[in-house]
Amino acid sequence: MVKSDIEIAQASPMRVITEIAAKAGIASDAIEQYGNYKAKITFAGLNELEKRDDGKLILVTAITPTPAGEGKSTVTIGLGDALNQLGHQAMIALREPSLGPVMGVKGGAAGGGYAQVLPMEDINLHFTGDLHAITTANNAIAALLDNHIHQGNDLNIDPRRIIWKRVVDLNDRQLRQIIGGLGSPVNGVPREDGFDITVASEIMAVFCLATSLDNLKARLAKIVVAYTYIREPVTVGDLEIAGAITALLKDALKPNLVQTIEGTPAFIHGGPFANIAHGCNSVLATKAALKAADFTVTEAGFGADLGGEKFLDIKTRELAKHPDAVVIVATVRALKMHGGLAKTDLEAENITALQAGFANLNRHIDNIKQYGLPVVVAINEFVTDTAAEIQALTDLLVTKQVTFSLTQVWAKGGAGGLDLAEKVVAATRQASDFNYLYALTDSIPEKIKAIVTKIYGGASISFSKKAQTQMTVFEKQGWSNLPICMAKTQYSFSDDQTLLGAPEGFDITIRELVPKLGAGFIVALTGDIMTMPGLPKKPAALNMDVDNLGNISGLF
Ligand code: ADP
Repeated sequence: MVKSDIEIAQASPMRVITEIAAKAGIASDAIEQYGNYKAKITFAGLNELEKRDDGKLILVTAITPTPAGEGKSTVTIGLGDALNQLGHQAMIALREPSLGPVMGVKGGAAGGGYAQVLPMEDINLHFTGDLHAITTANNAIAALLDNHIHQGNDLNIDPRRIIWKRVVDLNDRQLRQIIGGLGSPVNGVPREDGFDITVASEIMAVFCLATSLDNLKARLAKIVVAYTYIREPVTVGDLEIAGAITALLKDALKPNLVQTIEGTPAFIHGGPFANIAHGCNSVLATKAALKAADFTVTEAGFGADLGGEKFLDIKTRELAKHPDAVVIVATVRALKMHGGLAKTDLEAENITALQAGFANLNRHIDNIKQYGLPVVVAINEFVTDTAAEIQALTDLLVTKQVTFSLTQVWAKGGAGGLDLAEKVVAATRQASDFNYLYALTDSIPEKIKAIVTKIYGGASISFSKKAQTQMTVFEKQGWSNLPICMAKTQYSFSDDQTLLGAPEGFDITIRELVPKLGAGFIVALTGDIMTMPGLPKKPAALNMDVDNLGNISGLF
């Protein structure tokens, strides 16, 4: 019987967190403990780490996701463990899971098999409360904004032009569009409103890109929340609440330290989705890991066209450090789906589908090479993969002349990733020639064109009338020198989630642009992408339970 992720996690003994901090060279007075197995690093502790040199940065990304599963977090954690087994000082930097997917489609997001971070139940549920703090900070802005209008509206805010939404960290389609302030004059000013999921909120993005509390405050002040009747932007700074909102986030902003099953230190901090936000953990956590370890392994969400591109074109600019090597995770199963197989047909050997689906991996490899970075492909092996399928995939990778490794970290932990770790270490020592995909000074349509044509393989872009008007306004406001954060389905290179493999020649529709001046990027919404997901017919929540001693089951 194969054990579930939670069964493996619960059977794994944990070291006290002070021991893990010591392993990362973090002094005991530089951490604040949240129980025995979780801690936050203090700001003084982060300043102390600042004095050290940066280690090497390894970015783990993947092929276009399919319902067959790729195992990016699993490989990220297993690679960290393998590096430690080889005697390197390694750290892992991951995102905090959102309750949307945990209760919805996916179950846990703390890795899998013998490559997991612990305590997985806490990490997947409320953890150290960061997501709640972010939700509250976001909603405090909404409450203070509506109160400003109710109390006389000195800033002349047009209630029809409020772009700040409320958030909740759940998949709740019921709240996508609402009308608030109903009742009588004492109940506020009626207006159309709506909720996004917390991980899509600008607060989450700001939180993940901030480099200090002061920087967080300065970024929060810049957030545009609405426009006036004469269409001038209104910011959090104009509402005079940047200090209060920063205060709500002051503890959350400290990176969380936990451990893997093998005792490798891991930071888990911040968690924007990669399809509707920028998709990687906080800059503060990645920076701290770079200082604490010789090798930091970090992950970008969904495929390399989304999280990978955003890591390189958005986060790298804030981090002032680019990855020294990029790992692209692929599975035989997912490639077979990209080659046209249905999920129900994946168990049977099918070399033809695998070879057809290779086009997806092939494009992701070429895309990362465009940035001038060394690439290593990690084949995340499943027990259902046949020897002939593995051989067919390795033949294609040999022909492609790309470094690759067959890994079994899910089944064996770090021991299943030693070859991958050796190849990745060698890749980080290669000379790299990093370049961004676009210059910040390019116009908004030029930047979007670079992403669509050079990364997605698309041919053209259609801007809606609304997006065209917005580009003119943004240009006038002086906002056009920001990077672009594409909001696009994760299931295809295109904005049509049914186009698997490596589609070409398609058109991408840009429906709307959203200025995120605090985060420092402009979101481009493509197709019908939603910033508040819904739950599936059989949500993952149906499998979960807890006993009278508080032991959780069914969390994947
Ligand atoms: P991603 O980060 O790409 O979303 P995860 O690492 O979270 O993927 O893995 C998703 C699920 O797939 C987890 O429950 C994990 O246990 C499972 N999984 C990952 N790799 C394997 C594997 N090689 N064999 C079986 N299950 C796996």
